[in-house]
Amino acid sequence: MSARYLELSRSDLQSRAQQAYEIYRECRVCPHACEVDRTQGQTGYCGQTDVLRVSSSVRHFGEEPPLVGKGGVGNLFVTACNMRCDYCQNFQISQNWEAQNWEEGAGLADVSLSYRNIAEQMIRLQEEGVHFIGWVSPSHVVPGLLKSLSLAREMGLKTPIIYNTNAYDALDTLKLLDGVVDVYLPDLKYSHSATARELSHIKEYPEFSRQAVLEMYRQVGSLSVGEDGLAESGLLVRHLLLPENLAGTWETLCFIALELSPGVPLSLMSQYRPVHKVTSPLNREISPMEYETAIGMARELGFENLYLQSLEATLHNLPDFDNTDNPFPLDRTHNQENIKVK
Ligand code: SF4
Repeated sequence: MSARYLELSRSDLQSRAQQAYEIYRECRVCPHACEVDRTQGQTGYCGQTDVLRVSSSVRHFGEEPPLVGKGGVGNLFVTACNMRCDYCQNFQISQNWEAQNWEEGAGLADVSLSYRNIAEQMIRLQEEGVHFIGWVSPSHVVPGLLKSLSLAREMGLKTPIIYNTNAYDALDTLKLLDGVVDVYLPDLKYSHSATARELSHIKEYPEFSRQAVLEMYRQVGSLSVGEDGLAESGLLVRHLLLPENLAGTWETLCFIALELSPGVPLSLMSQYRPVHKVTSPLNREISPMEYETAIGMARELGFENLYLQSLEATLHNLPDFDNTDNPFPLDRTHNQENIKVK
């Protein structure tokens, strides 16, 4: 399987990266549109300049089976985020990233060095035998990742890219990824703006995220899986269930089924855990009944390919990013199952 970015000429990829980099000058990389000049050290909602920071780059086995195979996904867990979910399980790197122990020489003093450093990390993961390079929470640093990808390609990178996102992505930024990303893996989180504002501190989530997912679908269609069971390219949509149906599951599933297709693989995630700074009603896990209800909705809407999680797994989905080399110690026992609904 060939990565899509290899079909672009080298100069096309470089100019795509440069075009994206220009957006940093009056930043509208994501829907916040802070309009700060990140190339001059200014920062907006995400707190990042044009220096690319990754908190951990590891081989990961916790994604859906067609992405994991035997070799796993080489995930780059990007530092900071353009959402501030009260229940974020990655809060150590998404919100409390300043407290992280940044190594001397991690390229943070020099923009170009930071891009080279991340390119080298992608090459290392490829050498470790991963099937994909996963960009996790990439929405606020797409220009930097494109710069790194362009360098990594020069160094021999051939591995396809997964864009693993909270779906709060800007349309113009996503368009620059057309022909670059192989697999889009958005988590469509909320159906109601007011809930998104209250729990994740962002504006107009449903509008922006749905527009983004439509663009992803336009670019790559539904996820296709090869005879070896590995994903080839396409869109797989995740939906994290929240207690008391705060995610607005029915409306989200209706959007996917009616405006994309029930043929789009859907991953219903039961892994919500009350961490970080949650208060009632978020201070509990979802119940078996809530999960069954969501599965029933997916069946009613005719989803053909569902990925489900066991409610039993309590530990492996909670990372500890203080352990940067291995934030997911129980990861190899991933608990996804693939259920085909007839
Ligand atoms: S990426 Fe988004 S949050 Fe960060 S500065 Fe740009 S517009 Fe603001």
